[in-house]
Amino acid sequence: MPRKLDPASQKQLAARVNYYRELGIYDFYRRPFAEDTAASPEPPDFAQAPREVEYVAAGSSLFESTLPVIQDKVAALHAIREDIGDCTRCRLHKGRKNIVFGVGNVDADIMFVGEGPGADEDEQGEPFVGRAGQLLNNMISAMGLARRDVYIANVVKCRPPQNRTPERDECDTCSPFLMRQIEVIRPKVIVALGAVAAKNLLALNDSMANLRGRWYDFKGARLLVTYHPAYLLRDPRQKKEAWKDLQIVMKYLGLNPPRKTSQE
Ligand code: URA
Repeated sequence: MPRKLDPASQKQLAARVNYYRELGIYDFYRRPFAEDTAASPEPPDFAQAPREVEYVAAGSSLFESTLPVIQDKVAALHAIREDIGDCTRCRLHKGRKNIVFGVGNVDADIMFVGEGPGADEDEQGEPFVGRAGQLLNNMISAMGLARRDVYIANVVKCRPPQNRTPERDECDTCSPFLMRQIEVIRPKVIVALGAVAAKNLLALNDSMANLRGRWYDFKGARLLVTYHPAYLLRDPRQKKEAWKDLQIVMKYLGLNPPRKTSQE
């Protein structure tokens, strides 16, 4: 007997299907999934991190990926950048100096996705180069990696005025380019930094407390939500929670934190 979805899951599934339709994806293939992949209503207890976390199916795991494996990733990313062009698709173009496309290792296992460029990023044309970027670099180092090992991009590619949160239509206009970047990179893990990235990638509207600390399926990759580094700068007490999130990623990828040297 096919499992009947509860009304909340039906609504979530319908939203997800609409979201893909808006991206121009119409064909979905259903595959069976085990009962134990159903979402847990309880957020995980991080008392003893790292620990096993629930593997949560967030709609997309119902669908088989039909995406081809892209051989020349550099050329494919270049083509996406060409398609963006000197973009005027939304109002954010008016205040920008540079389009901030994305940076990093095209074969990265981990892709970090932020919200949108700030002043430093707008100036330099590279994501996460300001204070929040310094903290992101530290988070990456703590995972035993270097910035050059990962790929970093944002939901919107132009700086919102006064660093305001990008609006829904701005995210909707720009996020198809991010989706294409993800499809090219095909990371094993996507780390959504903050609510804007999480909500746009997952098409879920929930609090950070509910969204973080658990795995989601995203086009065959695992996706984890954690706090945005700019939020961690404002509330450093949350760093330990973000570290617990990153440890979940590290455990999955078999990463170890760097050893301290005797001088440290
Ligand atoms: N905040 C973001 O979300 N992205 C950046 O690139 C910089 C700051």
